[in-house]
Amino acid sequence: MGVGGPTQGCRSLQKTVGARVHNGKRVHNGKEDMRVKQMECRGIFDPLPQRAKVSKKLGLKAELSMSRIRTFRQRLVEWYRKHKRDLPWRHEPDPYKVWLSETMLQQTQVDTVIPYYRRFVSRFPTVESLAAASVDEVLKLWEGLGYYRRAIHLWEAAQIVVAQFGGQLPADPKLLQRLPGIGRYTAGAIASIGFGLPVAILEANSRRVLTRVFWDLGNEGRPPEEGTLWRLAQKLVPISDPGTFNQALMELGSLVCTARKPLCGDCPVKRICRAWRLGAVENLSAQVRASRTLFCKVVALAILRQGRVLLWRYGSAERWAMLWDFPRFEIGPGADVFALAREKASDWTSCLVKEWTEFGRFRHSVTRFRIEVRCLLAEIRKRDGPLGEPGVEAEGASYFRVGERWVRKPKQSALERTLRWVRLEELANLPLTAPARKMAGMLSRVLNGQFQDA
Ligand code: SF4
Repeated sequence: MGVGGPTQGCRSLQKTVGARVHNGKRVHNGKEDMRVKQMECRGIFDPLPQRAKVSKKLGLKAELSMSRIRTFRQRLVEWYRKHKRDLPWRHEPDPYKVWLSETMLQQTQVDTVIPYYRRFVSRFPTVESLAAASVDEVLKLWEGLGYYRRAIHLWEAAQIVVAQFGGQLPADPKLLQRLPGIGRYTAGAIASIGFGLPVAILEANSRRVLTRVFWDLGNEGRPPEEGTLWRLAQKLVPISDPGTFNQALMELGSLVCTARKPLCGDCPVKRICRAWRLGAVENLSAQVRASRTLFCKVVALAILRQGRVLLWRYGSAERWAMLWDFPRFEIGPGADVFALAREKASDWTSCLVKEWTEFGRFRHSVTRFRIEVRCLLAEIRKRDGPLGEPGVEAEGASYFRVGERWVRKPKQSALERTLRWVRLEELANLPLTAPARKMAGMLSRVLNGQFQDA
């Protein structure tokens, strides 16, 4: 706690805003300072005590001196101002754009994100416009970026922000973390970059930089633990321009202090980097474990009826959350593909589908999976009988509930898939999985008579 506990701190705040010095600390003037102090009162951040040694307070094993902290901040920010990349979300760092870019950048390369970010911002320039869209429209713009739950969470959270906060993201990181898809890191990024509040961030890049530079803060030669790194990050983030500092930290990890072969010779903080001084950067570098590649074969069915094709939509908790796909099943070695297709199609459509044609095969890679897809086509000609369309849940009906706490959709329904007969012309506009997009292209060529047998 910064100033003698919450209540006392708040009273002290009212008295001291506008003064230059209070309790040995510099007190800033203006609205921003008031916001900072209010957060301090609520224990959201803990400003750096004006003492040379803070390691005891941090519970750290080694000394963390003020001069080390100042040198680190200064060198890092100077380097960032000269070497930062010109990225579109850095042009106008308002809280919504920060939220959007940070969400897109999770597990995704910067170069991949840029065109998606531009399209998304151009279509949804505000939280309100995002909240007013359908989930299909949001997913369609996200198609190909992967980790689709991120898009669903954005869409859900946008509606909560409109309903609860009048369309403005809250600045308080604790409130931000109650929104779907916003964790401690994203909340810190929005608060610091978007609102200019001194809140720490810790993600893969900043974690790596801090671990190496402050290696001595760990125990018995081991790297500092997660809790120590968060406390350290909070101590390091300055009150003045915390957003630049946080971005600089991530940028250094991304461009110089990389997981493999860090460019220590070009590093602005090498003189105070404990790993570099120990000559142990290689040993302390992340051990990249090669993950085992997994192969699998699936059969995807294009079942046509009355100008429509049967698709299913994945549940919101599945890998391809809420995207559409051709119904498919996995096969083992020696499987009778056509017999299995008949059986599955009969379950899904309540019709006996006897004649199948294999119209193509392709391979698709996703993370460590290598999937071989065989595409089968059949047409149900019978005009009578049920169309077999169970219907799709009304959009937005049950994804979340706004109450004292925001509750996610129950797990079971989040895993449920829904089947639907979709008009062939609709395929171009629906958000499809990447394999389904390939298969839709092949199907279109077959139906237009352009397909040559594979
Ligand atoms: Fe990373 Fe090397 Fe710089 Fe240390 S000196 S922060 S290990 S790049």
